[in-house]
Amino acid sequence: MKAIQVEKVGKLEIVDIPVPAVTDPRDVLVKVTSASVCASDLGIFRGSNSLARYPAVIGHEYAGVVESAGGLAAAVKPGDLVAVDPVRSCGRCFSCLAGRQNVCLNLRVSGVHLPGGFSEYVVAPGDRCHRLDPGKIPPDLACLVEPYSIGVQVNRRAGVEKGDRVLVIGSGPAGLCVLADAKARGAVVVSADLIESRLRAAEEFGADRTVNAAREDLAVAVADFTGGAGMPVVIDSACTLESFPQSLELASPAGRVVVMGNLDQPSPVAQVSITKKELTVIGTRLNNRRFPEAIDGMERGVYSPGKLRTHSFHFTKIAEAFDLIMNHPELVRKVVLTFD
Ligand code: MN
Repeated sequence: MKAIQVEKVGKLEIVDIPVPAVTDPRDVLVKVTSASVCASDLGIFRGSNSLARYPAVIGHEYAGVVESAGGLAAAVKPGDLVAVDPVRSCGRCFSCLAGRQNVCLNLRVSGVHLPGGFSEYVVAPGDRCHRLDPGKIPPDLACLVEPYSIGVQVNRRAGVEKGDRVLVIGSGPAGLCVLADAKARGAVVVSADLIESRLRAAEEFGADRTVNAAREDLAVAVADFTGGAGMPVVIDSACTLESFPQSLELASPAGRVVVMGNLDQPSPVAQVSITKKELTVIGTRLNNRRFPEAIDGMERGVYSPGKLRTHSFHFTKIAEAFDLIMNHPELVRKVVLTFD
């Protein structure tokens, strides 16, 4: 079978490798039908992901059809269309026993530490494979369950409820998934970005107000929108060194600030910027068994996955997809890779 492998930093290859064998009776073999490209895939390629190992078959956003299932993989059967949760946890550690398996002490992620879904076949635990109704979610969009699960996770972490006023900084694909899920929960959402076309996307995804922070002072816009109080919920999907301290500034007293970034360099943050408003600063990582909620949102039509995908490429054209994402962020929401 063919797979997309990052050989080492900066070197991408289509390799021919054996179809993986199902050795654990709880596992299934999935024939991949679609996979979407994430900024973190580019991070592995460019060497900015400190957790990545090389060579690596990448891709953590993928779906496919179950080809064969081990005897103990009870939840799915051959022929099922499934979205595959890339999180692999041990089930025994402090985090897993606390119900927080997405921060498992022995966490491994398919597409980062384990073979990923940019591959014609992949082996996955049966309980990480979530059945979809192909009449409601076409196989070529089923890979988008994973990005939407991130939106669910972020809003769950923030406790977003009907009527909450939420600022989403960044209107790239992650920001759009957070926005879509916040709107599904009944929140009032302000979306910010520096790129005008991304703000048009935020409008399509239901943003109540958009702010181009390249042209408009975001602090003034937030003050206008909230009568000077600041935003009760701020979600930072921009994830730059500056956006974290800025998020703290933009939050209202008693506000909640969600940090999505994985930078390992410090941002300048004064302790008083958290204490003076008694902020709650919340980390979020991957998803904590949110696939059923994300699938429900897609099947009920409250998200618009067809608007999230802007481009499709056959998976063997991955280099072209990477070039497009790197050089034209203003044109791209999600790139979906298709398989034969
Ligand atoms: Mn991703």
